[in-house]
Amino acid sequence: VSRLISADKRGEDADVTMRPQTLDEFVGQAAARANLKVFVEAARARGEALDHVLFVGPPGLGKTTLAQIMARELGVNFRATSGPVIAKAGDLAALLTNLEERDVLFIDEIHRLNPAVEEILYPAMEDYQLDLIIGEGPAARSVKIDLAKFTLVAATTRLGLLTTPLRDRFGIPVRLDFYTVEELRTIVARGARILGLALSEDGAEEIARRARGTPRIAGRLLRRVRDFASVAGAERVTRQVADEALSRLEVDALGLDQLDRRYLTMIVENFGGGPVGIETIAAALSEPRDAIEDIIEPYLIQQGFIQRTPRGRVLAAKAWKHLGLAAPKELAQ
Ligand code: ADP
Repeated sequence: VSRLISADKRGEDADVTMRPQTLDEFVGQAAARANLKVFVEAARARGEALDHVLFVGPPGLGKTTLAQIMARELGVNFRATSGPVIAKAGDLAALLTNLEERDVLFIDEIHRLNPAVEEILYPAMEDYQLDLIIGEGPAARSVKIDLAKFTLVAATTRLGLLTTPLRDRFGIPVRLDFYTVEELRTIVARGARILGLALSEDGAEEIARRARGTPRIAGRLLRRVRDFASVAGAERVTRQVADEALSRLEVDALGLDQLDRRYLTMIVENFGGGPVGIETIAAALSEPRDAIEDIIEPYLIQQGFIQRTPRGRVLAAKAWKHLGLAAPKELAQ
């Protein structure tokens, strides 16, 4: 799915200037932040490795950013990799044996870890030991290697995709929620200051309202709005400038983009508003099921556009209204 709301971390996100560097600079997720602060201080005071942390939540909410902040606040090294990148047990062993005491190892998309790799992660997390089988057949033998006491910080978009034994090994599970418009407004205003962009308060509010509850999208919209403003010769980004730019990007008044609307429209036109199963939706949209469940649906569900029922997805009255259609009688409240 290539679009403004994609989970792709390359490109603009690689420009790290807008990434908050400390827990205090990090906007939103107040409850999670307060807890993490306590755990970090306690671990520091005892001089021990922080317990393993699992961040769960949709793409772009700050899981990677928080992992980096954890390492910085703990005063230790940060090493990052991701589930699909670790192909063999030996790849993970190489990473683990290079860690120093209390280091943070970040594994993004941990639900995509190969089962053989996951197997060797268990004793590493629990006892800081590697159990490796060396050689094959009758000559094979098992060796145990002691590891530094490290902290695994992992991220996943969906908890349900993790095996239970893996999930159980995280002492600190942290769920991240979509951001409020108010929080996003603060993030957008801060981003504009860093980019040196003159942005009015209502301009920031407009971008925040249409950022799908997601800081990554807020950052992308801000950059695109800046482009439009500079080409149009606008000295200051007001609500009107922001609105024009976002409309041209086909981000609608509620922050839904083309693919969101295609999703909703397809359920109306092909399935009378549902219920319809996820596999059928994926086929009809020619998009991978994972991308639909990870990227499109969480926000549509949170905003009350769709409901997940045992028989499939059903459009709510709000979705019909948003598409400018009359909702079926049984939905009208
Ligand atoms: P995830 O790992 O959950 O997909 P990232 O940590 O990569 O998300 O964050 C995506 C982008 O959003 C980054 O550019 C980051 O700087 C920005 N971001 C995330 N959370 C915040 C926040 N609370 N305040 C400001 N910027 C944020």
